[in-house]
Amino acid sequence: NVNRKFHPQDTIVDVAGVKIGGGNFQIIAGPCSVESRDQVCQIAKDVKAAGANLYRGGAFKPRTSPYAFQGMRSEGINLLLEAKKESGLPIVTEVMDLSHLPLFEDVDVIQVGARNMQNFELLKELGHLNKPILLKRGLSSTLQELLMSAEYIMAGGNENVILCERGIRTFETATRNTLDLAAVPLLKTMTHLPIVVDPSHATGIAHLVKPMAMAAAAAGADGLMIEVHNDPPHALCDGAQSLTPEAFTDVVKAVNAILPHA
Ligand code: PEP
Ligand code: MN
Repeated sequence: NVNRKFHPQDTIVDVAGVKIGGGNFQIIAGPCSVESRDQVCQIAKDVKAAGANLYRGGAFKPRTSPYAFQGMRSEGINLLLEAKKESGLPIVTEVMDLSHLPLFEDVDVIQVGARNMQNFELLKELGHLNKPILLKRGLSSTLQELLMSAEYIMAGGNENVILCERGIRTFETATRNTLDLAAVPLLKTMTHLPIVVDPSHATGIAHLVKPMAMAAAAAGADGLMIEVHNDPPHALCDGAQSLTPEAFTDVVKAVNAILPHA
């Protein structure tokens, strides 16, 4: 059950030895999309050196346009697994369809993207796995709806759910989404599950990532998910919000400086 009432202590999700929640703050970083072997292995090395604890990269991409880059799919997962072997960082990647699940066997955290937050059949299936799930808040979903989606996964027996606030759709168009930071302390009263914040998709603008990452840490988040690319202007997806490894290093330092137990 997601409810804090029935489970007063914080859940700590263990991802291959990396613990998230209950005072353990972790940073997930990596490119929006896996683009090549060199790209995915180089960025893994760079984010690890900067202090990231988990590595992200999209292989199946939920793009608004069917003509936009759709990801490297199964080949992308294989390249991520190579980056995992080289860097030693556990990997996080998004599943878009039930039929692809067999490809995720060696993936450490399966991400459910905002667009699939209410794909209930997918959530039920993930509930039968013994693997951490990163559940992103839907584009226009309430906190209660986010929690009910987590409940779908937990009802199947999988209690390793990490919630992610990634911004919601509002009337404001100056940012890609509106980061709902009050969601973090509010969710803490509603649930025992760990909550990470994704300031990259929440803002869509690289220079806003650092202040929002710091604000998320100050608000009590259990971690961050940040997009990092070796060459943001030429990224195949989400370049405008992607940090260079240097800028990411600076964000990690700034966040560590304000963590309660840093
Ligand atoms: C992502 O993290 O790669 C992604 C597509 O984000 P969201 O589902 O939050 O839009
Ligand atoms: Mn992205």
